[in-house]
Amino acid sequence: MKISKRAQSIPPSATMAVTTKAKEMMAQGIDVLSFAAGEPDFDTPDYVKQAAIEAIKAGKTKYTATPGIPALRKAISNKLKKENGLDYSPEQVIVNLGAKHTVYEAMQAVLDEGDEVILPCPYWVTYPETVKLAGATAVVVETDRDNSYKMTPEQLRGALTDKTAMLVLNSPNNPGGFSYTPDELAALAKVLEGTKVIVLSDEIYERLIYGDTKFVSFASLSSDAFARTITINGFSKAFSMTGWRLGYAAGPVEVIKAMSKLQSHMTQNAVAFAQEAAVAALNDTQGEVEKMRLKFEERAKYMSERLNNIDGFYCPQPTGAFYCFPDVSEHYGRTIGGVKINGSLDFAKALLEQANVAVVPGGAFGCDRNIRLSFACSKEQIAKGIDRLEKWLNS
Ligand code: PMP
Repeated sequence: MKISKRAQSIPPSATMAVTTKAKEMMAQGIDVLSFAAGEPDFDTPDYVKQAAIEAIKAGKTKYTATPGIPALRKAISNKLKKENGLDYSPEQVIVNLGAKHTVYEAMQAVLDEGDEVILPCPYWVTYPETVKLAGATAVVVETDRDNSYKMTPEQLRGALTDKTAMLVLNSPNNPGGFSYTPDELAALAKVLEGTKVIVLSDEIYERLIYGDTKFVSFASLSSDAFARTITINGFSKAFSMTGWRLGYAAGPVEVIKAMSKLQSHMTQNAVAFAQEAAVAALNDTQGEVEKMRLKFEERAKYMSERLNNIDGFYCPQPTGAFYCFPDVSEHYGRTIGGVKINGSLDFAKALLEQANVAVVPGGAFGCDRNIRLSFACSKEQIAKGIDRLEKWLNS
């Protein structure tokens, strides 16, 4: 059957491709250590599961209002006020089927053919494809390792044209494991003043920050920033709820209405009882999120120290999310196990096939010098995996 040009133009998610290959090898009985996962290894907190079970028993199993049940929109509006200093009314909030869906729908709602979207590099794999699906063009901004891959105000200024419609910011960052400081974000916000650029601020790793890192929502920086921002967040990462598919956006009411209109013809609404459970999740009275954060913090330190100690690896300690993103390019040009390593894809492929360790090639995020390792796995697994990686590099 004919496949549309649109579908043909989109590659499958590289993160998923590595995870799938690693799972296939595991199914064949091979002992694979996977650092490819983009999801927490913790179970969803029990109080959230209980809330969903009760909602199902109470018959919350039907269509809901397209932008979400009123209780959840209100709970999100309260959360954004209390935790992020953002004054969004419930009408300025929409609930979607995962933040991936939120990003897609937000871009569909505000972008047009010919628009340019600035993507600082490294970027999450899905952004360039959702930009493309909205008919717009991604303008990738190269960043510097010495600035922890964070875009500077000068780099942003250099990328602006009269076609720039959007800037995508993701802090804490996947895959980079870095976070912008409030001052750095404020400097970027200043550059945008006087322009019509919309900021899509993906804050899904907001709660996973380490050391003395301080999280600040881009929209809270000034009234100018508030007016131009679509704030995106979700339940997958902080609450270990990846399979529940719950994300949300908050922004100008006309944008939320446009997203809702699109959603009414696409998915209609997020799952009814998952929305009920999300209200409970936001109440997190049991400190479950903090327990997970502390574990991630310990692993961030351990994994980055081990990686940084490897010859030819450069890996600063992550300040957010759950990824290390070492520069391994000093090893490019080598032949390991009979395979010439010319870039991140060769590196990841050879490492998986020869040492049974799964990592994601940085090329998928626009940074071919790097590989991404998730520390959403036990410390024992990290230790074992890095032992194997070291042995493989010395083979
Ligand atoms: N944004 C970023 C930066 C992510 O890393 C992810 C998950 N990999 C998402 C959004 C989407 O998360 P979900 O669809 O599970 O809510």
